[in-house]
Amino acid sequence: MVNFVGAGPGAPDLITVRGMELLKEADLVIYAGSLVNPALLSNVKPGARVLDSKEMTLEEVIAAAEENEKAGGMTVRLHTGDPSVYGAIREQMDALDRLGIAYRVCPGVSSFCAAAAALDLEYTLPGISQSVIISRTAGRTPVPEAERASALAGHGATMVFFLSTGLAGQLSEELISGGLSPDTPAAVVYKASWPEEKTVRCSVGTLPGAVQELGVRNTALIIVGNVLSPSGAERSKLYDPAFTTGFRKAKPDRE
Ligand code: SAH
Repeated sequence: MVNFVGAGPGAPDLITVRGMELLKEADLVIYAGSLVNPALLSNVKPGARVLDSKEMTLEEVIAAAEENEKAGGMTVRLHTGDPSVYGAIREQMDALDRLGIAYRVCPGVSSFCAAAAALDLEYTLPGISQSVIISRTAGRTPVPEAERASALAGHGATMVFFLSTGLAGQLSEELISGGLSPDTPAAVVYKASWPEEKTVRCSVGTLPGAVQELGVRNTALIIVGNVLSPSGAERSKLYDPAFTTGFRKAKPDRE
């Protein structure tokens, strides 16, 4: 059995309880060494094999998992954040399917959640935005034309850009050409939940300068949207005394 496990955003205590149990049981751990906090590896049982996938190809990852499977071992494939977000797990699942090796996914805390925590931010504010767009700028991996930042900007939704700090200038231009005002609030969060976490608030127009000032290229997220400076946000219906929910009747004098 191969378990794809979300390691969480970095802080070793932000892996899930289930993920930690699997890590402790694994006979082979293949971790994404470019992003996963190596402190998590201190939980691996004595004698277990540990491989860093940043130096491996897909074929090598699968061959290691297959060998472990044949020996009757359990493999943990440890991915940063949640494996479903830019985790390249589909290709691994397809290869395991071809070999008839069973697998399961254990979700994790994605870095975009840790970034919101770092900023004391709610992504979905009534009256401001009720949607979160997760995207990236096109680099060596292309982004479909219809999903370019310029095309997404028109929604006015909250946006979180992964893998994009190296192209902040291009992103800023695309967002503005797509109709966002240069004054639209933005933020950059570097290494959310790590001891070296840094945040900077800026605007879509000043984003390239803010990234430069922060001096980071990797392990950072760019967040864009009015939820970052919410004037005019409405309070939620859920906790409004005048609102009946499935669990609570509205107070009669407020209806
Ligand atoms: N599956 C991961 C994302 C992997 S893609 C997740 O759910 O978070 C790698 C990108 O994620 C990085 O380039 C960066 O944009 C972002 N990232 C990962 N960890 C981060 C962290 N702790 N703080 C800020 N950004 C992070």
